Amino acid sequence: MSTVRFLKTDASIWCLTPKATVRVPRTLDDSAESSHALTGLTRRLEERGLMNPPLETSFSATILTSSDCNFGCYYCFQNVADGGDGPPDRIARTQLTDESALKITAYIRRRMRSQQRSTAKILLFGGEPLMSFGPCLTVLEDLSDVLSHASIITNGYLLTESRATRLWKSGLKSVQVTFDGAREHHDTMRTTRAGGRPTFDRIIQNLRRVQEATSLQISIRLNVTSETVEGLPRFLEQAAELDASQITLDLAVIRDYRWNLSSSSGASVKRTVDTLLAMARESIAAGFTMARPRNGGCSFCGPPPGEGGAVIGPDGTLYSSWETAGRPEYAMGTVETGYLSGGGEKWQSCQGFSSDHSPDLDHAGLVQDSFDANLLDMIHAPRADGTAP
Ligand code: SF4
Repeated sequence: MSTVRFLKTDASIWCLTPKATVRVPRTLDDSAESSHALTGLTRRLEERGLMNPPLETSFSATILTSSDCNFGCYYCFQNVADGGDGPPDRIARTQLTDESALKITAYIRRRMRSQQRSTAKILLFGGEPLMSFGPCLTVLEDLSDVLSHASIITNGYLLTESRATRLWKSGLKSVQVTFDGAREHHDTMRTTRAGGRPTFDRIIQNLRRVQEATSLQISIRLNVTSETVEGLPRFLEQAAELDASQITLDLAVIRDYRWNLSSSSGASVKRTVDTLLAMARESIAAGFTMARPRNGGCSFCGPPPGEGGAVIGPDGTLYSSWETAGRPEYAMGTVETGYLSGGGEKWQSCQGFSSDHSPDLDHAGLVQDSFDANLLDMIHAPRADGTAP
């Protein structure tokens, strides 16, 4: 299935297809925003072969190595109930073992064969994946001859130098860590599940040591909410000990009920976007690379069911997306039985699940789209000498 994401600024219409990012200057095509014109644009992109995903040779597998987490974030999509005075209740705890890791890698090899994929792209995911550290190594080492890329999404608290070095030597290429804005915000939201302790300084220290000991690519996702947005620039000072030249920074607008209550007008969207653009400018000046806005296609949950990718729980249960993983009502089979027949109604892409469960996604989406569009204008602005960047 082909998808295109249109983003607009006063100067440009950006078309993000699975294969390319194309800019249509608004000065040249003032009518380009009409749905008729966008349909014509889509047809021209199709004619040039830019609408279909590139030919994929890798099978993409997300493996939840632990559904448990050592943090207790109130907004986690894996929360199932308010925990009262304590942290929220989560999806049921399961941990990957070496035995189930080998069943999962055998399944990935079978899917590679049946889908004619020559390599595997692996994402280690949780909960907090490092709570099952040994089995993470087992997965990487058992697939070492077919790995095209291996990454991990971790909260960073357990990412010590020695763990990172062992993962890197076993084939891990990249790490994504999330912060909830500057330290003063992060430490009120991303606290340890046991005891509610702050985590910002330890994560920064871990990342600095990881940079010294390995060549892992590091991506920092900076969550943006109504509470964190104004304080974002302080993050740059607080993370100054990191080598920014080796880090990609992603400003991610997340769902936030308070935001909707306090800022539903277009003016507040603009103010928020202006703040984010100022942050992006400062980040680039500090040496960070800004993450490029994406098309929105997902190799893990895009083509149903399990054609090009799979999402696999710690016990080998198959799901359709990160969002549904760990929820029994969305189980779609196991690595031993394969996908259940007739499970089509349980198939939820990550985007589909988010829009069904996030009533305020429209506001967050407006901010993210406007920021992404203006960020593209910024990144692609001609240099002072008039040459293209
Ligand atoms: S660190 Fe991630 S998985 Fe853990 S509670 Fe927070 S958002 Fe959820």
